Amino acid sequence: MRFLDKVALITGAGRGIGKAIAERLAEEGAKVAICDIDRELVEKTAEEIRNRYQTQALAIYADVAKEEMVNAMVDEVIKTFGKVDILVNNAGITKDNLLLRMSEEDWDKVIAVDLKSVFLCTKAVIKYMIRQRYGRIVNISSVIGLRGNVGQTNYGAAKAGLIGFTKSAARELAGRNITVNAVAPGYITTEMTERLPQEVKEEMLKQVPLGRPGKPEDVAGVVAFLCSDDASYITGEIIRVDGGMAM
Ligand code: NAP
Repeated sequence: MRFLDKVALITGAGRGIGKAIAERLAEEGAKVAICDIDRELVEKTAEEIRNRYQTQALAIYADVAKEEMVNAMVDEVIKTFGKVDILVNNAGITKDNLLLRMSEEDWDKVIAVDLKSVFLCTKAVIKYMIRQRYGRIVNISSVIGLRGNVGQTNYGAAKAGLIGFTKSAARELAGRNITVNAVAPGYITTEMTERLPQEVKEEMLKQVPLGRPGKPEDVAGVVAFLCSDDASYITGEIIRVDGGMAM
């Protein structure tokens, strides 16, 4: 039970990787606040976590790309639990298209949800983390931010930007005992990747030396490690969880 006295906020946690992270932290004793843009889904996931792990789970409906909603979300976490120790910036979307066909709207949307949100959520929690001189922040990047991909210039830019953000924030917050790290998943089976055409999935799989897609739980285990005391001397690090895809 590594997180017995800890409060964790996980964004985009109604399903997929975010849900697996929330479950893993809850299983190890954390009180969790989970946010999602899908109101019904986040309520349902919080209920599942409360029943399965006998811990407190707060559901928050929020669009993490909107500053007022992010600030209201963090206020609610503080009102409910009195503190926030762990932030996992997981919410993300894709709007793929070849560069010549990509609209300004799809560029802006992905940058707002996948990158600006990380600035907004981190800024909102650090005032509490600085005061308590403790914090663990984990940003969910992607191997696409490391090596690029056809049709994903918006997503690749956001996920690479997140790596730069992680390293700068890690330097800025290290003196206050707040670590900031990133995880870069490869091909993980979730609704985000399930909607891809079969031939794209087969092509991605060919690039994975371990020969299978990852599970959300594979990512959750590494996030839990980065949030634990075992990782207290790790900051500004980017850990790939990709079956060797981007080595
Ligand atoms: P997912 O199954 O689509 O889940 C993401 C969740 O975030 C959804 O419930 C989604 O709600 C929510 N969300 C979207 N926009 C939001 C917003 N503005 N505010 C709050 N919540 C929002 O995706 P996933 O595969 O679990 O991905 C999670 C993270 O891992 C993302 O950052 C993704 O880029 C990253 N990642 C995934 C893979 C992969 O292979 N799956 C690989 C590398 C990185 P809606 O469905 O209602 O939009």
